[in-house]
Amino acid sequence: MNQQERFQDQGKMLSDFYSEVWVVCPACAKKALAKVNIETNTVRLYCLNCGYNKETSTKLSPNATILMAAHDYFGASLWLQSSFKNDVFFAYNGAHLDYLERYISANLREHKDRSHFTLLEKLPKFYHDAKNRPRLLKIIARLKLK
Ligand SMILES: [Zn+2]
Repeated sequence: MNQQERFQDQGKMLSDFYSEVWVVCPACAKKALAKVNIETNTVRLYCLNCGYNKETSTKLSPNATILMAAHDYFGASLWLQSSFKNDVFFAYNGAHLDYLERYISANLREHKDRSHFTLLEKLPKFYHDAKNRPRLLKIIARLKLK
């Protein structure tokens, strides 16, 4: 069995991918970015295609920061998403998509010290089902070309 077929849960959390999210630009519908700046407690949605640029605070009140994925502050749609049967396959950004691809394409999936908190452990069932693998990999390949 080669390296490619093995995959070990790296313990990543979904929140590890919160700070930079690829979104559909609300103005031109091309790919835009939503990015959190933890130092200034702000989050910005900007589009290199049309120049759309909007910034908001990540704080609900002076003492309360809301932790959520960058696009959620704007209610923006994810760039990397596709319907799968009655579910939705999605990734926040390219690194997240790569991570899912490595997991889904692996034949041997190792979960050491299950915590039930990692992104992979929390994935809906359809991601884990070997019979869905070919279709999921097709979706991933298509999203990569987007
Ligand atoms: Zn735009």
